[in-house]
Amino acid sequence: MTVPEQTLPIIGHYIDGQNVAGSGERKGDVYNPAIGQIQAQVCFATKDEVQLAIAAAEEAFPAWSSTPPLKRARVMFKFKELLEKNSDALARAITREHGKTVSDAHGEIIRGLEVVEFACGMPHLLKGEFSDQVGTGIDTHSLRQPLGIVAGITPFNFPVMVPLWMIPMALASGNTFILKPSERDPSASLMLADLLAQAGLPTGVFNVVQGDKLAVDTLLTDKRVQAISFVGSTPIAEYIYTTGTANGKRVQALGGAKNHLVVMPDADLDQVADALIGAGFGSAGERCMAITVAVAVGGVGDALVAKLAEKARTIRVGQGLDENADMGPLVTPQHYAKVKAYVDSGVQEGAKLVVDGRDFTLPGHEDGFFIGPCLFDQVTPEMKIYQEEIFGPVLSVMHVNDFETALKLVNDHEFGNGTAIFTRDGGAAREFSRRVQVGMVGVNVPIPVPIAFHSFGGWKRSLFGDHHVYGPEGVRFYTRLKTTTTRWPAGTLLAAEFVMPTMK
Ligand code: NAD
Repeated sequence: MTVPEQTLPIIGHYIDGQNVAGSGERKGDVYNPAIGQIQAQVCFATKDEVQLAIAAAEEAFPAWSSTPPLKRARVMFKFKELLEKNSDALARAITREHGKTVSDAHGEIIRGLEVVEFACGMPHLLKGEFSDQVGTGIDTHSLRQPLGIVAGITPFNFPVMVPLWMIPMALASGNTFILKPSERDPSASLMLADLLAQAGLPTGVFNVVQGDKLAVDTLLTDKRVQAISFVGSTPIAEYIYTTGTANGKRVQALGGAKNHLVVMPDADLDQVADALIGAGFGSAGERCMAITVAVAVGGVGDALVAKLAEKARTIRVGQGLDENADMGPLVTPQHYAKVKAYVDSGVQEGAKLVVDGRDFTLPGHEDGFFIGPCLFDQVTPEMKIYQEEIFGPVLSVMHVNDFETALKLVNDHEFGNGTAIFTRDGGAAREFSRRVQVGMVGVNVPIPVPIAFHSFGGWKRSLFGDHHVYGPEGVRFYTRLKTTTTRWPAGTLLAAEFVMPTMK
């Protein structure tokens, strides 16, 4: 039964400390992917609505940026506590709109929480440097100051974790923030706004505008917005980077991925198969750090495929609220159709589909956007399923003769987000991690997402910009350096000097 449009809940914005119903001029559908039905509608912000959020953030900036970092950090401590207390409700909200399992949603909340914990140390992270007596009676100090209003534009696949890569770093370092979350799972953003308000964040410091390209373009072109953090697909990341920088903004834009796991002949194949099953099919493959290509080196491919096929067939596909499910549905009917079309294209191009999940249906949830695990063997570099990001539960196996060919394969790919090598040979692992053209590398670790006190980011067309997100790179991104040279007059003021000043 389809719910009539007029009775659907409407998801609005959060501007200047208030939940704001959007004008409703344009709206998007929010699905429950497990049952395949529209469960709510989200308002797409008009230009005026985005400008209201910018004005609120502008007004809040002077007081918030002058608030002692210690006090800003205390808001983060409280926010962390509230996130922990409300993690179950948040996880369920993620599952209802995204479809991933609740345990996986808890995992993403924890990875986001770790960034909040890191941001609690912002007073220390903002500490500058001081040099005594750089010239006679002259000292120099440098410090980092916030940028002003910054915006975050985030993807559907981590509706809590990715915003938390940005929000605590930006706020604790003294900026005000506007979040434009994914229109496909917008509810979690409003829950974050509520928890930040409960934590004592002053009005206007954090705002949420829901929407699409119109909202994004308004943020990209408004002179008052100083910086943009973006996470999403590569074509949009490139657009955000070129448009944002052309408008004078600092931009970090993280894009798509095609992550390879290189299996050396000495690796334990059972361990490798377990790692690949989790990293390939967890969250139905809707992760930018999912492993989508296994590169089997030196003849281990056939044995690996046999083990993968056996394990893939035992994956429990179910609705995300089912505690026994390993993997949930895809996010929308459009994405479901896209992933299926990729699998069809792999078959047409001659890859061997060893496990075919295309016809999977979950009894009682026949309209849900479920697709079972798909395992391809004999994939080659010219195939579309190798070249493009599928973002679904589709794992490809390739066979190569040696380490050098495997490394070249990884390095020749246009994406460079994450990669891993499984081996017992320390020399091979070291060589791989030094020479691979990828931003995040795992050695016997399939999904090497850096912990919050390091930083996250890919290379090549997986990241446009100079800074990775969160960790020390996040502090640099959300602040700019100021260096002050000081002399206190003590009866020694000099006459006018017309040559380049040098320290005496
Ligand atoms: P997407 O690019 O479709 O959307 C991301 C954001 O951009 C959303 O907020 C969306 O509303 C906005 N957007 C979409 N089209 C736009 C346009 N034409 N102009 C301006 N804004 C636009 O990405 P998605 O489908 O939500 O997320 C999946 C993608 O994100 C995958 O490619 C995945 O690899 C990538 N991702 C990357 C990372 C990373 O760290 N590199 C992390 C998570 C997801």
